[in-house]
Amino acid sequence: MTSDPVRDVVIVGSGPAGLTAAIYASRARLNPLCIEGLLRGGQLMLTTEVENFPGFEDGIMGPEMMEKFHRQAERFGTEFLQDDVVAVDFSRQPFEVRTSEKSFRARAVIVSTGASARMLGLPSEKRLMGRGVTTCATCDGAFYRDRPVAVVGGGDSAMEEANFLTRFASRVHLVHRRGEFRASRIMLERARTNPKIEFHLHREVEEILADGKEKVRGVRLRNAQDGTKEELAVDGFFLAIGHVPNTALFRGKLDLDANGYLRTKPDSSHTSVEGVFACGDCVDHVYRQAITAAGMGCRAAIDAERWLEARGR
Ligand code: NAP
Repeated sequence: MTSDPVRDVVIVGSGPAGLTAAIYASRARLNPLCIEGLLRGGQLMLTTEVENFPGFEDGIMGPEMMEKFHRQAERFGTEFLQDDVVAVDFSRQPFEVRTSEKSFRARAVIVSTGASARMLGLPSEKRLMGRGVTTCATCDGAFYRDRPVAVVGGGDSAMEEANFLTRFASRVHLVHRRGEFRASRIMLERARTNPKIEFHLHREVEEILADGKEKVRGVRLRNAQDGTKEELAVDGFFLAIGHVPNTALFRGKLDLDANGYLRTKPDSSHTSVEGVFACGDCVDHVYRQAITAAGMGCRAAIDAERWLEARGR
């Protein structure tokens, strides 16, 4: 294991929060290292068109937007490393951030590790992952041309995925456990008026069914109101039931709330450890938008800059 000189700032994560922090920190001449993760760019790499990020009046594809953020951070001197962080030591200064191959030391660390797709918790879902079960319509939608699929969830993600999947699938079954939706009116309306989408409300997914080749052939649903069961024949099953924060690395090292989100001090990005800052979806369980994550990244970089400055850096 090799070790580098002590850096001012290491940023962990490369979604809108991490990359915005990188833009601000590099413009402040803090020469940040951004450890991007093996799958860089965060959740926007798994989305289609982003229509609500100001400045892109015609919309922009998520991955293209992240590429632009990346290039902007690079332009001001951010150093990037495409690897996963496997351990951190925040118990003393300088902090240590470790990947599988290398160890980095930093006076300040900005955590922007985002969130990942939530799973239902069914054994069949785990077993059939990649065999018809997926968390990403953008990645896998095209495999289901002229075939029926199901999407589970009642939020914006589920509506977005269902709408997107109608480009390929013969039929999209939208399965939701309640009769009310978290989805915004505009997204819900778009799904409701799409003739290829069929809503199955008050339905819980009891089991994902496989054929003899261990490929998805359907789902068994349970009516939450009267307990009756039914089967839907589908070839693809898309999970869109929200996300969990990627904070396992920080358990016992930084304060987390009951759901695993990082706690920050009021009106700031300061975590429970001085010199460690957090931003984006690993903190925010309320808004969870690219634009709010970017705003939080900006705050974290400014907080880190001021914190370092107060210590004579
Ligand atoms: P969400 O709003 O938290 O919705 C999750 C949905 O999954 C809810 O309907 C929930 O049901 C359901 N669910 C959760 N756990 C479940 C389980 N174990 N079994 C069955 N159903 C379950 O998550 P999201 O849709 O991913 O959206 C997250 C945030 O991203 C939101 O702020 C959203 O506005 C934003 N977003 C925006 C866009 C856009 O504007 N283009 C696109 C995607 C996402 P209940 O309602 O019964 O709890």
